[in-house]
Amino acid sequence: MPSDELIDILTEIREHFGQCLRINSGYRCPEHNARVGGATQSQHTIGSAADFIVFKVPTEVVYQYVMEKYGDRDLGIAIKRNPNNPYGGFIHLDTRGKKATWEYK
Ligand SMILES: [Zn+2]
Repeated sequence: MPSDELIDILTEIREHFGQCLRINSGYRCPEHNARVGGATQSQHTIGSAADFIVFKVPTEVVYQYVMEKYGDRDLGIAIKRNPNNPYGGFIHLDTRGKKATWEYK
């Protein structure tokens, strides 16, 4: 089950943009295994992380909003950009209890 904090934030993001979210990965995120090792992987494993996009909103716009609104909170926040599609890639968000930000190459 996803954490309540995660659900609350995802709900706020959805309401802000007025668009549905598409959750790409709730429990596992294979890219994390290579990028950030077990800690973030475990965030997915325990349901405290989600990778998502917002329909009809460029991923960069979502990322800027998330960083502006939640960047000071104890969350893991990351972006995977798709250079060929501004609506592609995803935002990673997790409620790890400390602040961490990164970008996927
Ligand atoms: Zn992730």
